[in-house]
Amino acid sequence: MTATPTNRTGRIRPQAVLALVVATILPVLAADRPSTARSSSDDATAAERTAVDDAPGAGSFDVDAVAEDAIGDIESYWSTTFPANFDRPWPPIEGGLHPTDATDVAEHRPPCLVRSTEIVANSYYCEAADALVWDRAMLLDAAAEHGTAGVAAILAHESGHRVHMLLGVDEQAARADPDRYPLALTESMADCHAGAYFRWSVDGGGELRFDGSEVDRAVLALARAHDPVGAEKRTHGGALDRVLAFQRGYAEGVHRCAASTVDELGPATDPQAAPVPHRQLPDLVSDDLAGYFVELAPPGSGQDGPATRLPTGEPGCADAQGAVALCPEEPVVAIDSYEAVAGVHEGIGDHATATLVAGRHALAAIGRLGLPVDDANTGSRTVCLVGAWSADAVAGQGPPMPDTTGESDGWWGPGDLDEAVLLLLTDDRPARDVHGISHRGGRERVIDFALGRHGGPDACLSP
Ligand SMILES: [Zn+2]
Repeated sequence: MTATPTNRTGRIRPQAVLALVVATILPVLAADRPSTARSSSDDATAAERTAVDDAPGAGSFDVDAVAEDAIGDIESYWSTTFPANFDRPWPPIEGGLHPTDATDVAEHRPPCLVRSTEIVANSYYCEAADALVWDRAMLLDAAAEHGTAGVAAILAHESGHRVHMLLGVDEQAARADPDRYPLALTESMADCHAGAYFRWSVDGGGELRFDGSEVDRAVLALARAHDPVGAEKRTHGGALDRVLAFQRGYAEGVHRCAASTVDELGPATDPQAAPVPHRQLPDLVSDDLAGYFVELAPPGSGQDGPATRLPTGEPGCADAQGAVALCPEEPVVAIDSYEAVAGVHEGIGDHATATLVAGRHALAAIGRLGLPVDDANTGSRTVCLVGAWSADAVAGQGPPMPDTTGESDGWWGPGDLDEAVLLLLTDDRPARDVHGISHRGGRERVIDFALGRHGGPDACLSP
């Protein structure tokens, strides 16, 4: 977020879909490299960092030192990248860095802070003072949950605000033309610039040298800080918005970030939106979740599509796929046990479990269409079809979405899309083939999902 002096915390025509997919999604796919790719130098750097990443809670952990390293690396990136790309200098941060404790703001009030409670779980770039400010406890949590990459993601995002400010998208410009430079746009730009920094790091720039799996952790740290359902106004956007904005910078670089426009943003959050009730597993199964995929790929005459089977206590048919598995012989999508999905169901949400189940029905549909269920493209295609189903089933946040399959069934609400994205970032099971093998990393799965959400099943099933 940015602060000054207080914290600031649709659908499109079918013809436009292809252009949007080509313009937005395909360059991301083409320019990305597999997030599972690691060079030997990546391994060495990541191993050295393990001691730091494991340290929060150990007593001697110095989150200020981690933040200092991250800021040093980010500054190193911008001090060369900014002049080289924008033909102007990258000045030192005049107002400095302000790690802040919520208990201490009465005596040491950081710049731009009006109410002391504002610092809790917060970080911001203060344009008036040219200063970076963060809640030390929040950064410590990020370090514990996401490692150095999580700390760097937050600080790279705040530095991203400084970048667009130096490029003229500042508070004065926002006041003069709020429709062109809404807060949501500058938040998206900041995520995008963070992505550009991480790409440089992955490519061997700087000292931290993050690898692909650490970049996924960085993105997760940002995606988890999505706008809550019912937020008064759109700020950072939904989890999908944040991943795609980051990925634009990662894949396409800083000029792409600087050229971001409001047209790329998802619809504004609906302040009237209420979370839909959390559903238990039997309710999920009784929902006609398989219906979308049966319609997409009808079974042969006299055959049924797979039903979803609740835990029976019997051994699963395909352990390698995980707790929710397609058993093609029966056919059935079987859930091993309640315990096996409890982490996803309670930890992320009921729609995360539904996404696991939808993934197996998507895999069955791929088989019925005569496409391979065990090659290198299977996982990408499967998750893409889950995205197509999501566009049908889940309304709400996210980039502009085509009307591919008719009305939403009303079961799912805006927060459910966030649950799907958080699952895909952290869990490879939706992308596993029939033998349980996944070829897709976290961000790649979200991009596959977004492609299906934008383009519908046709975008997934082309050769
Ligand atoms: Zn921000």
